[in-house]
Amino acid sequence: MISRRKALIAGGAGVAVVAGSATAIGVANREKPEPPSPPSSDGKGHTLWRNWSGIQHSYPVLRAAPKDEGELAALMTAAPAPVRVTGAGHSFTGLCATAGTLVSLDAMSGIVGWDGDEATVLAGTRLGALGPALAAKGRAMANLPDINKQSLGGALGTATHGTGTTLKAIHGDVTALTLVTATGQVIDCDGDKRPELFDAARVSLGALGVITRARLTTTANRRLRRRVWIEPFEEALDKAEARWKTHRNFEFYAVPFTGLAANISHDETDEPAGVRPPSQDDAFLDVLKTLRNLLGFSVGMRKAAARALLGGAEEETAVDEGWKLLSTERPVRFNEMEYHLPAETQLQALKEVVAVIEQKRPDVFFPIEVRRIAPDDAWLSPFQGEPRGSVAVHAWYKDDHAFFYELIEPIFRRHGGRPHWGKLHSLNGPDLAALYPRWNDFLALRRELDPEGRLLNPYLKTLFSIA
Ligand SMILES: Cc1cc2nc3c(=O)[nH]c(=O)nc-3n(C[C@H](O)[C@H](O)[C@H](O)COP(=O)(O)OP(=O)(O)OC[C@H]3O[C@@H](n4cnc5c(N)ncnc54)[C@H](O)[C@@H]3O)c2cc1C
Repeated sequence: MISRRKALIAGGAGVAVVAGSATAIGVANREKPEPPSPPSSDGKGHTLWRNWSGIQHSYPVLRAAPKDEGELAALMTAAPAPVRVTGAGHSFTGLCATAGTLVSLDAMSGIVGWDGDEATVLAGTRLGALGPALAAKGRAMANLPDINKQSLGGALGTATHGTGTTLKAIHGDVTALTLVTATGQVIDCDGDKRPELFDAARVSLGALGVITRARLTTTANRRLRRRVWIEPFEEALDKAEARWKTHRNFEFYAVPFTGLAANISHDETDEPAGVRPPSQDDAFLDVLKTLRNLLGFSVGMRKAAARALLGGAEEETAVDEGWKLLSTERPVRFNEMEYHLPAETQLQALKEVVAVIEQKRPDVFFPIEVRRIAPDDAWLSPFQGEPRGSVAVHAWYKDDHAFFYELIEPIFRRHGGRPHWGKLHSLNGPDLAALYPRWNDFLALRRELDPEGRLLNPYLKTLFSIA
């Protein structure tokens, strides 16, 4: 048995030797930060806004970073429309693009109050900054997504989630929030005070107004033990349900063209925190990409090489406080489609996704992420009403991702999936009305709060089927 790190380094070099190329020898054991943002000006020197992957852009005439709710309320009524609020710009869809006003809550950040174990947090706070701030009080968010670059407002806006059968998406831990609407109203809501607005606003795509603060339940800041291990894909499929039942957090990545899966679990522990080796995720991707480049002409050879190089890697473990372990860096830029499926259809959909990629898209090398999320009752939460299992397909940012729509989305839709609001999909009003029982109530409330449609950009008009 060799560690995944050694396997990856050997893997890169091995593939190069097998294929008579030196390109893979650059596979290095290094921890890279998130890649720099795409340039903030176009080729002609005009300033623009871009999302993380670079797939969305716009030229707002005004950018504003209000310092408090009063300043924001004035802006909402007077600034050029469409008025869109953005957090970290990590969504892949056109939610934030505007030729009007782009609002940032970067100046409204931090914890501003405690009510027992509930923290009131300004919505511009990045999840990565919230971790240490909560830990200073011995508390933590119950769960985190893969990365922690998002703002709290942005994470709520698209129902951002982590994984764990008993753990809700982030908005599921919100117990109260404040919304500033397009008409300049500042409205507090919770389960008792304007409960319908509370249920609509917790996941609202920045389409009801700007959330300025949210009260969050927290948990004790416990240490977790992470395990990462590779095994045959079929075995991962057979054992996934049992693992979701037994681990605090469990997810796995199906790796197309390898016959393998990488499993990741997190469980509470009293073991002391240890020194963590650098992340191997980018090296793993380098090997997969090299296998694609050099052996993409033969599924059989690609699978055999992948199994030989990666299949025998030994398990990796790490122990640390949960907020330090649950989110990691994503140093390789990509585009993504993720759907949330009824738990009972999730794994069948996954099998079909892997099969169609292996039959038709030899250019794909990114692993497919598979998670489970607890239900909640926010109107536009993809997890509304029942536990859901997510399946996420990625494409390197320079690669074609049209196959998301042509091959993958039909499978997700056939299995009753709801799209992640921040990730690529092609659904519009009638499709979404069929998936969300309170869709029309949401649209009616939206009209009431924003009668002039000041918050609607072209993407939201398509989503809501508004002419
Ligand atoms: C590398 C990477 C990894 C990711 N991992 C995960 C993951 O593990 N799990 C997951 O679920 N998602 C994941 N995502 C998706 C990401 O969490 C969401 O797209 C999230 O919305 C991004 O947050 P943001 O602050 O960048 O928001 P933005 O993308 O800037 O905005 C998202 C939406 O929220 C609205 N919004 C922003 N702030 C406010 C506010 N204050 N009030 C009201 N509305 C607001 C915006 O108008 C927009 O509609 C990932 C994305 C990337 C690029």
